[in-house]
Amino acid sequence: DRVKVDVLVIGAGAAGLMCAITAGQRGRSVLVLDHANKPGKKILMSGGGRCNFTNLGVTPAQYVSGNPHFAKSALARYTPSDFIALVEKHRIAYHEKELGQLFCEESSKLILRMLLDECAAVHVRVEVDCGVQKVRKNEEGFSVLTARGEVHADSLVVASGGLSIPSMGASGFGYELARQFGHNILATRAGLVPLTLSGKHQEHYADLAGVALPVAEARVGKRSFRAGLLFTHRGISGPCILQISSYWQPGDDLRVNLSPQQSIGDWLVDQRAARPAAEFRNVLGDLLPKRLAQRLSELRFASRPMRQYRDAELRDIGDQLHDWPIVASGTEGYRTAEVTLGGVDTDGLSSATMQSKIVPGLYFIGEVVDVTGWLGGYNFQWAWASGHAAGEVV
Ligand code: FAD
Repeated sequence: DRVKVDVLVIGAGAAGLMCAITAGQRGRSVLVLDHANKPGKKILMSGGGRCNFTNLGVTPAQYVSGNPHFAKSALARYTPSDFIALVEKHRIAYHEKELGQLFCEESSKLILRMLLDECAAVHVRVEVDCGVQKVRKNEEGFSVLTARGEVHADSLVVASGGLSIPSMGASGFGYELARQFGHNILATRAGLVPLTLSGKHQEHYADLAGVALPVAEARVGKRSFRAGLLFTHRGISGPCILQISSYWQPGDDLRVNLSPQQSIGDWLVDQRAARPAAEFRNVLGDLLPKRLAQRLSELRFASRPMRQYRDAELRDIGDQLHDWPIVASGTEGYRTAEVTLGGVDTDGLSSATMQSKIVPGLYFIGEVVDVTGWLGGYNFQWAWASGHAAGEVV
């Protein structure tokens, strides 16, 4: 049987549901299809089950894209306050964790329920377990062959997300469809992802798995992030590493400031005066986690009683620890990445509406587009904003 709708949205994730709600509120008939067995799986697993649904400090500067200006228009027209108003309308309790990050008090399930309730209120149909086999453009619009028959739609919105977490339904579908219609795809890679070490670089740190620095600063070129760092069995993780991973590529020089809040050189000089007989590695173990201090001493500084070090030597050690090279070999990949960098080239899209400049009536929103946010609620805000931008015109 053949179904006819105004708007067909492929992907019942954050962006697709927001687009459907916005279009439904304008009186458009909307069908949302998803091949997974339930909608919004990434919303459910996000923010450790509490969904970091936006960030109070959203600006275009927190997004990585081939065109840093592209996200401006949509972000300006659907702001964190707009989404917060929706959350408050549904009486969902939330709190600011840190750095403007807003989380649900109880569960990310409430955000998904809110979106599905909003869909139902404007008669948006959401169908799951329904893959898309083929998409054709004809004079009247789009003809889409799905697992449940053919759907005809005036507008087709691709909201199928990126490649991260394949076990949650991620697929390269959106990129293939974009290519089919002549769009350029910028190389995709895992973002917001732990980095791996190999060979001797891994051996140096392998037995430190579980050691954490509450605040470190990871730097690649001029870009740096200050947050927690964690040593893992395969490499390094923690928020400062996840953030820098979106700017790091194999071969790039990664530096870590192991104590960004305090001058290590000054501290060591003071300690030498206070306890001249103490061993260097034990002293360092009072500033940094003990196992890490021990390892760093073995790797580069040996260890003697503090009184045997000159000022300049201690300051030099401090400088090295403020700019410590860690040679990463790769990332954990899409299996654990929170996002996919790259994607549908924004050159082929209108920044006001997300509509294809090549095929009228075709739209790309959310993570499938080459716009990727920092850790901290920025990716959902892009999903809401780009979904809303398309929803206003489809
Ligand atoms: P998605 O939410 O991924 O939705 C895409 C949908 O399309 C999916 O339901 C999928 O099943 C469906 N689909 C895919 N292919 C097909 C196909 N061929 N046919 C039909 N349907 C298809 N961001 C934040 O801002 N805050 C957080 O707290 C946060 N936590 C995260 C935690 C984890 C573990 C992960 C992996 C990501 C997290 N993110 C977070 C990132 C955020 O989830 C994504 O950026 C966001 O979900 C992207 O929205 P989207 O609608 O574009 O794609």
